[in-house]
Amino acid sequence: MERINVWTTYSEEQEQQVFALGAKYRAYLDAGKTEREAAAETIRRAEAAGYRNLNDVKTLQPGDRVYVNTMNKAVQLYIIGKAPIEQGVNIIGAHIDNPRLDVKQNPLYEDSDFAYLDTHYYGGIKKYQWVTIPLALHGVVVKKDGTTVPVVIGEDEDDPVVGISDILVHLSASQLDKKGAVVVEGEDLDVIVGGKPLAGEEKEPFKATVLSILQEKYGIEEEDFISAELEVVPAGKSRDFGLDRSMILGYGHDDRVCAFAQIEAMFSVTETPDVTCCCVLVDKEEIGSVGATGMRARYFENAMAEILNKCGAYSDLTLRRALQNSRMLSCDVSAGYDPLYAANFERKNAAFVGRGVCFNKFTGSRGKSGSNDANAEYLAKLRKIMDDNDVHFQTAELGKVDVGGGGTIAYICALYGMEVVDSGVAVLSMHAPWEIIDKGDLYEAKKAYRAFLLNA
Ligand code: MN
Ligand code: MN
Repeated sequence: MERINVWTTYSEEQEQQVFALGAKYRAYLDAGKTEREAAAETIRRAEAAGYRNLNDVKTLQPGDRVYVNTMNKAVQLYIIGKAPIEQGVNIIGAHIDNPRLDVKQNPLYEDSDFAYLDTHYYGGIKKYQWVTIPLALHGVVVKKDGTTVPVVIGEDEDDPVVGISDILVHLSASQLDKKGAVVVEGEDLDVIVGGKPLAGEEKEPFKATVLSILQEKYGIEEEDFISAELEVVPAGKSRDFGLDRSMILGYGHDDRVCAFAQIEAMFSVTETPDVTCCCVLVDKEEIGSVGATGMRARYFENAMAEILNKCGAYSDLTLRRALQNSRMLSCDVSAGYDPLYAANFERKNAAFVGRGVCFNKFTGSRGKSGSNDANAEYLAKLRKIMDDNDVHFQTAELGKVDVGGGGTIAYICALYGMEVVDSGVAVLSMHAPWEIIDKGDLYEAKKAYRAFLLNA
């Protein structure tokens, strides 16, 4: 059952491929730090790879490549296979939303000569990790006339950044006595965005300066925050990590590392596959897969219906059969074993960074609560596919029984009666502003997803 470090298995040529894939991934990460940006970047790459918008296609034939864009926040890619879709499709699914701080709808205020944007955090974060680091603002402001103004501030070398202050250690006696969860509280995650008064402005001059800049640079006014989605994320690009450059430090590996491995696996299928291949990238996983762009919405099922229809094979029954006969890898990150926090893991069933793609038979918490517990028959089939294709994989669960838990989109797709298992890349410092993955694991994930698409 021992798993070896993947780097010990690579030839010089493979190592070059691993580093090349890592560099490509970093570019994808840096181009998409929000679900909207990741969706747009995915569609841009898909179009370059010959995928067309499903809406622009009247009929579908084997070999056709199409994508579906759901509200600019979720994307599906399909390659139509030779076999009838009724027999099921091979699905790889990941999420492209990340923990972050969302700017509130009435966010701007000033206090003691600072202008602030008030935020509401999104997803599971340790709030104390978000203070005193450079932050950037990404998102859209949609004006009353319907025009969308994209905003990215804090990524260019010459851009200013924003950030959240923390109390100096000299005056921290009472703060340091608090429990970790309340050392920094949610309502105190307010982002400093200015500190210079607007000349001639009597009332709220610091806020006025910020508003005048927003007006000048973006043509937006304070009321436009009502229809804005602005996300505060760590500023800056991903970096090679470690003196040996074996790892990548980046914001949003959870779950863009799997999203990227998925799209690379899809683009690597250049032939017409026997079985239809599907890649689903969803939003809102970090808050329970809710809303119209989360996995619980019906857009995946609807896209399958449209595709069956454009293949001339739609009926309610063929759709149900297609969904039930499908196989899925729910591709999401796993907790990388951290020797500094060894007590939180059960070593035999932990995911080790650098030991290949992980399969999680189940997730959930306590007595597997909330988990999709994959079938042994399905795992047997996948083991064989991985071994036949020289994929280095490991099996894991999140951590020790009863120390915590987490969920993915697996259980939602299982509702259709299809076979689903979680599979992903081990991450160190998951959900921190800067997370760490191993380039070898990314390489194995791409290999695994390609092998799955062509053989499941
Ligand atoms: Mn995830
Ligand atoms: Mn997560």
